[in-house]
Order: sequence, then structure tokens, then C-alpha cells
Amino acid sequence: MKRFSQKLSIACLAFASLFLFQNCAINPVTGKRQLAFMSEEKEIAMGKSYDPQVVAEMGKYENPQMAQFLNEKGQAMAAISERPNLPWKFTLIDSPVVNAFAVPGGFVYFTRGIMAHFNNEAQFAGVLGHEIGHVTARHTVAQQAKQTVGQIGLIGGMILSPELASQGESLMQGMGMLFLKFGRDAESQSDELGVKYSTAIGYDAKEMAGFFGTLDRLTGGSENRVPEFQSTHPDPANRKVRVGQLAQAAQAAAPSQKYEVDRDGYLRMIDGMIYGEDPAQGYVESGSFYHPGLKFQFGIPRSWKLQNSPSAVIMVSNDQKSQMQMTLAQGTDPKAAAQSFVQETKLQVASQSDQAINGLPATTVLGDIVQQSQDGSQSQTLRVIASFISYGGNTYMMLGLALAQDFNRYQREIEGSIGSFKQLTDPSKLNRQPERIKIVTNSRSQSLGQALQSQGVPADRINEMAILNGMEVNQTIPAGMLFKSLSGGNIR
Ligand SMILES: [Zn+2]
Repeated sequence: MKRFSQKLSIACLAFASLFLFQNCAINPVTGKRQLAFMSEEKEIAMGKSYDPQVVAEMGKYENPQMAQFLNEKGQAMAAISERPNLPWKFTLIDSPVVNAFAVPGGFVYFTRGIMAHFNNEAQFAGVLGHEIGHVTARHTVAQQAKQTVGQIGLIGGMILSPELASQGESLMQGMGMLFLKFGRDAESQSDELGVKYSTAIGYDAKEMAGFFGTLDRLTGGSENRVPEFQSTHPDPANRKVRVGQLAQAAQAAAPSQKYEVDRDGYLRMIDGMIYGEDPAQGYVESGSFYHPGLKFQFGIPRSWKLQNSPSAVIMVSNDQKSQMQMTLAQGTDPKAAAQSFVQETKLQVASQSDQAINGLPATTVLGDIVQQSQDGSQSQTLRVIASFISYGGNTYMMLGLALAQDFNRYQREIEGSIGSFKQLTDPSKLNRQPERIKIVTNSRSQSLGQALQSQGVPADRINEMAILNGMEVNQTIPAGMLFKSLSGGNIR
């Protein structure tokens, strides 16, 4: 129902299948022959099929000015890269997670979370170069071959959600791309390319090193803000040093050139951007999930993790052996929706009931689904409970599943969560506003901490805001200097 923010894997629910497309090709960056897993044509076709799925699953952040900036810089950099002729596309993703990623064929994504954390154009350009580097050096292609379908968290969704099932296996592969771990060598190479490309289009690559400092501080921060970008990359402290040296060497080659940083222009561009979760798309508070847009709420089983994407809300038990998901089902009749679910999943129904849930018409089915591995040599039985609830002109499917032998342990929690689905009427929950970045200045020189306090930023968020500003709390802000504060949400 909103966005994908956390990694999850339920490997036990799926079978692995490796796919390899082997041929030999010249690596465009190194010029060396490498065992390439697919032709460039195939790579582009793959990227073109992933891109709409990535956008559908994660959601696009609508901001024409930023979209134009991202595209302009992206195209300028791609044009001076070793692979200028790919169908390069740069997309802003509506996620608070600090992340940037690329899929094969030249499709590059920046979250609004990472855009919020850059403090100038040069930092952005360094990371842009890094992501373009993953494509030009064909890391995305090599990695593709190592993916196994079984590693991908949404497999349950693929099997069980009619909407997702129609998009088939390619969706899972698409989602898998988001969780790629490139090796350290690939990351080092992309850092080098980030320095090379951003220097080539005139930016000060030393700023890229500075952004690793931000990433380093983020990992020490609150759990919600641990960036995925970080987890898939080597130690930022080491990278900071190395990238700083590379930047110095790159600039030494043309010492008379002026390298751009452009802090003020960047900050003015991100003024007003949503920061953190956007509550309109659903949010978690005190053990419940609230969706003001669709006006519903339900309880989350204790200690389960929840992730919210535009197409589904997924919850996973602590031990990852049970999963719940909520998606929209077809039509408005819960009974008919349950029926088509039973047919599509070949559910062997053990029980069925038409008992209402908190006054809302509902049909609930309980049964088993036998899954075969692709070669048919293995099978496993999933036990599934699924309720189809009619509300506000939609039919919501809430389902819980686990392997049949584990299901009893989770049944009560799953049923409790499904049974708590109800209309959201509390105005304080319905009218929750997102926080936004507010670019401000001081009339007099003071420390960042004082400046933030005078902007109404609560004391327990000063450190978070210092990281967002790429500064220390006690660092002096001279009069007239721009910095990031917040508006909306609980601020003032
Ligand atoms: Zn990387």
C-alpha cells in the first residue's frame, strides 16, 4: 500500500532456480574480455522490463524540478561514460530509505531519502557516477546471473496475490535486483568511476568522500534509518579515505580547472521535499498500521516486521517463518474474490466462513497449497488463511501463511491481525501530515544545534538533523548561511 523499505526474505517458501546466459564479451570499462552472462541487447531488454515494475512497486516521487535535475545530470554523465548509447533513464523513487541503485541496461534510481541527505550537487554527482559505474562496468549484468529466485522476498506475493501473479517471474527478478550485493571489488571500481565521471562533468569529487561520512553516521543512527545503500557496500570510513585520494589525483591532472560544489542551488531545490515516511500512504504507530488515504487500520502481530509498498503491505514474523500480506483483490464481492483466489492458487480448502469482520462483509478461507519445485522433484505444503473484506468500494485480501508444520504457532497472531481490520475514523490519525525539509537561514551566527532549536526542532532530533545537514551539532552557522530544518509533522 505504499513502499518497499526493508529487506526481507522467506527463502523457505521458495525453490531456487539458477538461470545463466553465458557468452563472452568485452567489458566496456576495463576493455578486458569477461565471461558475460548476456548480450547488450538482452541486458537492455531486461532493464526495460524491470523498470516499470520497480516504479510500480516502489512508487515515483512527483517533483518535476528534481526529476529534471536528475535526468539532466544523469544524461550528461552517461554521455561521457563508456556506454553512452544505452537507453539511460533516471528516476526519483518515493521512499524515505537512503538508497540509490541501478538495474541492467542503464536504469538508475535515487530515493527521496538519499536526495534529502545530500548537501550539495557534487555529493549527488559522486553517487550518480557510482551507480552509472555499476551499469557501465556491467556489474548489474554479472550479478543478475547469481540471483536465485528463491532469495527474493516477494515470492509469497507472486504465488498468492492474483495481481502480482500475472506479472510472473520477472517481477521477482526485478525486485531481487534491488537487494543486490555487488562484491567489494565491484564497489571499489564503481567508486573510482564515480570520481572519474563526476570530475569529468566538472564536479568536486572530494565531496563524494564527504558523503561517505554521512553514510557512516547514518549506520550509527536509529534503526529505521539504517540505509540499504550502506548495507550493500563496504565500510564507508575506508571508502571516504580512498575516494578522497582518488579525487585529489583526478583533480591534479587538471589543477587549473574549477570544480563545482553548488551547495545553495541544491538546497533550494530540495526545499519542501517530503522527509521520512509519508503518512498519507500508511504508517505504523503503537503496534497498528494506519492508512489515512484508504481509511483503514489493523493491528500488527507483536514483534513482526512490516513493510509497506504501493501494491502490498507485508508483515513477517521475527523468525521469518510466517508471513502476512495485504493486497487489493479483484471486484467488490468478497465471496467471489475468495473463490477466484482458491482457483488461482489451487488452495485445498479445509474451511470457509462468511462471518463479518468488525461489521464489514467478509469471506475467510483456510487451506493448504502444495508447491512444486520447477523440475517437479520436490514439494512443500503451505498452510494459508485468507480473508476477503469488503470496505469502501474495495475488496481487501489479508492473508497469513507458513509451512503447514509450522502454521499452528502463528495462527492466533494471524487471526488476531485479520480480525482487527476496521474503518479508520480517528481524525488525529487521518490528518497526519508528512514532515518536509525546510531550507532556512540565520540572522546571526550560532551553532547548528542552537539554530535548529530556534527553528522548533525538538531536542531529541537535533543529532538526526545534524547528520541530515552533514555537520556537527556544535558547528558554527554564520549569519545568512542556508541549512536544513523541518516543517510539518510534529514540528511546530
Ligand atoms: Zn554500489
